[in-house]
Amino acid sequence: MEKILVTGALGQLGTELIPVLQEISGQSNVLATDIRPLSNTKISGPFEILDVLDGKALAGVIRKHRITQIYHLAAVLSAKGELNPLPAWNINMTGLTHVLEAARELKINKIYWPSSIGVFGPDTPKVNTPQFTIMNPATVYGISKLAGEQWCAYYQKRYGVDIRSLRYPGLIGHHALPGGGTTDYAVEMYYAAVENKPYTCYLRSDSVLPMMYMPDAIKATVELMEAERTDLSVKTSYNIAGMSFTPDEIYRSIKKHVPQFSINYEPDFRQKIADSWPQTLDDSYARKDWGWEPAYDLDRMTADMLTHLKQQKKELTV
Ligand code: NAD
Repeated sequence: MEKILVTGALGQLGTELIPVLQEISGQSNVLATDIRPLSNTKISGPFEILDVLDGKALAGVIRKHRITQIYHLAAVLSAKGELNPLPAWNINMTGLTHVLEAARELKINKIYWPSSIGVFGPDTPKVNTPQFTIMNPATVYGISKLAGEQWCAYYQKRYGVDIRSLRYPGLIGHHALPGGGTTDYAVEMYYAAVENKPYTCYLRSDSVLPMMYMPDAIKATVELMEAERTDLSVKTSYNIAGMSFTPDEIYRSIKKHVPQFSINYEPDFRQKIADSWPQTLDDSYARKDWGWEPAYDLDRMTADMLTHLKQQKKELTV
């Protein structure tokens, strides 16, 4: 049985991935870690505080728990990164380097490390963005993810470390609030609708961005980790597509369920980041290599998000 370490486990992705990993490998075999203490989250099972900037502590945790797989999720995301670039670079790159070095020295079987559509930049073709294309990211987040992809490919080639990676689009889920990305508006809009509050969107109404519902992101992650290594032709990180929409389209999708919901638009610095990213993605390598196929479109996601958020609200008020 694998012994799994998850870094940055209390974030938007970790809080949804951990229960699934626990189901696959057993609760006691999944160690959740984060720099923040465990409070007010839906995670249960083993937990430890771990700062990924502390390489010695990371190696100590790996030895103590006889870890065989690492899901390295700790990072600073795009919008937060632009507010404070140097700490973002440090956490994203030094954290990854510590994980890769620990994997090499301590013979970790497999690593999962998420990349992002932030690796693409204003020079990248925006429609059906290819797997291999011009990158030139415009944010510190994108630069760190692109360097991280190359770093992962280097460790695979030079040291034989098995690292798998997906370029997630904006992720939308109902377990935890997002942690400072450019696509956070979509999650915030659902929360506002359920609270019966109007929403002020920081992007223009017509900004098209690639997005994905969390169950699809988790499915992709698990499928990629279970794939035969010999089937994986992409050594950097796979494009995966779910759906693409504008703030106006998600607003209209929500209004079908919450007719009184209202929105206004006040674009801020995040608009420039959104403008530098793709609108739609070509994920044919993921489809061909390991059979990737998303299950959710916008309306199906909206119905599911609203059902879960309404249920959570009811539970909190009981
Ligand atoms: P998040 O911001 O919600 O969570 C990140 C977690 O990392 C937080 O719980 C934070 O406390 C922790 N962290 C920060 N610094 C740390 C440190 N020094 N040591 C240990 N933990 C630390 O992010 P998320 O949305 O869960 O993203 C997880 C991964 O997925 C990241 O690599 C991110 O770049 C990637 N990703 C996310 C999205 C998205 O839309 N959420 C899209 C593309 C890629």
